[in-house]
Amino acid sequence: MNAGQPEGAVKVAVVGAGPAACFFVEALLAGAPEEGPAIAVDVIERLPTPYGLLRYGVAPDHGKIKSVEKGLARALERPGVRFVGDVELGRTVTREQLLDAYDAVVYAIGADEPRLMGVPGEDLPGSVSAAGFVSWYSGHPDAIAPLDLTQESVAVMGAGNVAIDVARTLLAGRAHFAPTDVPTAVLDVLGASAVRTVYVCVRRGPHEHKFTFKEFKELVALPGVEVSVRPQWTGPLGPEREGMHKDSVLELLETLPPAPEPGAPLAEGCTRRLVFSFWSRPARIEGDGSVERLVVLDVSPGAAPGAELTLPVQAVLSATGYLPQPPAGIPGAVDGEPLRHEAGRVLGPDGPLPGEYAVGWVKRGATGVIGSNKSDAAETARSVLADLAAGALPRDRPAECWQPPAEAVDYAGWQRIDAGERALGEASGRAREKVADWDRLRALARG
Ligand code: NAP
Repeated sequence: MNAGQPEGAVKVAVVGAGPAACFFVEALLAGAPEEGPAIAVDVIERLPTPYGLLRYGVAPDHGKIKSVEKGLARALERPGVRFVGDVELGRTVTREQLLDAYDAVVYAIGADEPRLMGVPGEDLPGSVSAAGFVSWYSGHPDAIAPLDLTQESVAVMGAGNVAIDVARTLLAGRAHFAPTDVPTAVLDVLGASAVRTVYVCVRRGPHEHKFTFKEFKELVALPGVEVSVRPQWTGPLGPEREGMHKDSVLELLETLPPAPEPGAPLAEGCTRRLVFSFWSRPARIEGDGSVERLVVLDVSPGAAPGAELTLPVQAVLSATGYLPQPPAGIPGAVDGEPLRHEAGRVLGPDGPLPGEYAVGWVKRGATGVIGSNKSDAAETARSVLADLAAGALPRDRPAECWQPPAEAVDYAGWQRIDAGERALGEASGRAREKVADWDRLRALARG
């Protein structure tokens, strides 16, 4: 572990090293009064690598968003900030130990738990969460390939940007991802993929999508992919929809043709098919031992009550959102719900819990883009600084308290991983190839 923090400094632990954590560190240090006490920050991260969802959630072909990393790195390189990687809250260190050792503990642990659809057959082999699929193609060391992509038809459930990312990954093909940082094993699976048809199933209407236009346009524009919509979208749906919000997504949807029957020949020049199936509420997944079909309720305007539609798919990927898992032991915290808070101060049954704060998805739920974390982080940083100014920090500390273990991965260790991945990428003409294996990551960190 790197050198200790200065004596007498206000000690802050940030748990998690994703975008919210890094934005928080920047906001905290930028807002700290010059004449005040020194602030020492330990950014404690379960993985040996920083940047959380920027590294393991943002799609590999979205290089522009990934370049935010340079800004996040500045936070970790600030004087007084230590990266403490490969240290897990609840395993390596407890909440109580952190509360003893630090004046303020800031939870920036995200929202990892995939939201289930809660339909029969969801546990069949071939029905998987998009979260696991994203982790796999992003080279997360905990991920195992959730699908082997030997399936010809796949349904993606949900109308968020994760659904769009996953559909694009299934349809774009190996060549599209070859220049990115995905592990070679992922490229090999994408290269051998049998997937020819992807249904994006949305339980509501086209005007109630959550994905953004840029992501939608990129998916619709994939070369060699025939794109269609069901039911056919031909503008305003009738008197009941008059005055309906109209946006760029709807305008583009209006230009798309109606979906062909399953098994119909592909349009000329196309090798894959993408069907947006709106008003398709998941009812059940059926199959003898594995997914053979998806049944959705057709809730489109004018459909007969209880009308069903059966899609011939061999895999279902649910991109139906993420749920936060608050750290164990916080009084009143509920699994699957964001931490209750007041301007970032974590609330217990009787008000703010002294010295405990939250930022990012564990604070506000799994919403927003990377940049949304900036204002969120600034709010929590203002609360920490206000509590510091009010004399609520530092708090009493026992003489002996938890220290980051010697085997933790420090920032220099992360830089060695970074250099190792760049060297690996160079061998295949890429800027980087991710290492997706705990032992190799730890060995690189040790140097
Ligand atoms: P999301 O935006 O919340 O979308 C979840 C989708 O799942 C919604 O369409 C929701 O429908 C649907 N859903 C929820 N429960 C369902 C159920 N039981 N059955 C069927 N559908 C269900 O979540 P996300 O896509 O996981 O994204 C999380 C956040 O990350 C979002 O803020 C997103 O914008 C962001 N993100 C951004 C990018 C990017 O900027 N490129 C990429 C990935 C993620 P309802 O609307 O009906 O609830």
